[in-house]
Amino acid sequence: MAAPRRTLLKVIVLGDSGVGKTSLMNQYVYKKFSQQYKATIGADFVTKELQIDDKLVTLQLWDTAGQERFQSLGSAFYRGADCCVLVYDVNVLKSFESLQSWHEEFLKQADPAELEAFPFVVLGNKVDVDGGNSRVVSERRAREWCASRGDIPYFETSAKEDFNVDAAFLCVARVGLSNE
Ligand code: GDP
Ligand code: MG
Repeated sequence: MAAPRRTLLKVIVLGDSGVGKTSLMNQYVYKKFSQQYKATIGADFVTKELQIDDKLVTLQLWDTAGQERFQSLGSAFYRGADCCVLVYDVNVLKSFESLQSWHEEFLKQADPAELEAFPFVVLGNKVDVDGGNSRVVSERRAREWCASRGDIPYFETSAKEDFNVDAAFLCVARVGLSNE
């Protein structure tokens, strides 16, 4: 039997400070959640291996170290990305409105060969907060935004309760592979 193909996918995770980017990665890779605010996981990226059909995929998830406050992440961060995850907090309107500028910033910095076809995935995080009573961005509104930008896949997540986190990153791997 032939050895399965191994593919490395560089995934960058963007969104306003505090939306839960680091927490989502920690939950996905280490199955851990912390209430404490920490700006970064302390490394440029973390990796997770998964198998999709007959392919072994290594997801390399790049985290920011707080520079997202200034939208100044540097070209190394964007270079060679295979997929871009955009995260907002369903309880903070501003973080949803920022998706537009993160989307534009990515396209400008990464300059992918095929702008239209580049794979993004959007995550509406912190759906657990206050049992959903404090959310200000509806799922419908978020889905409309994604649909109008080339049908970007959308997931509602909770890094705290590990809700939809695996499903979201599985989708990230699939769309990243399709871009190979
Ligand atoms: P980042 O700046 O985007 O990396 O955000 P962090 O991952 O550092 O999270 C910011 C704060 O939100 C931390 O206090 C986390 O514990 C909290 N947080 C992250 N995700 C969730 C979530 O899904 N639910 C709740 N309730 N809190 C979360
Ligand atoms: Mg962070």
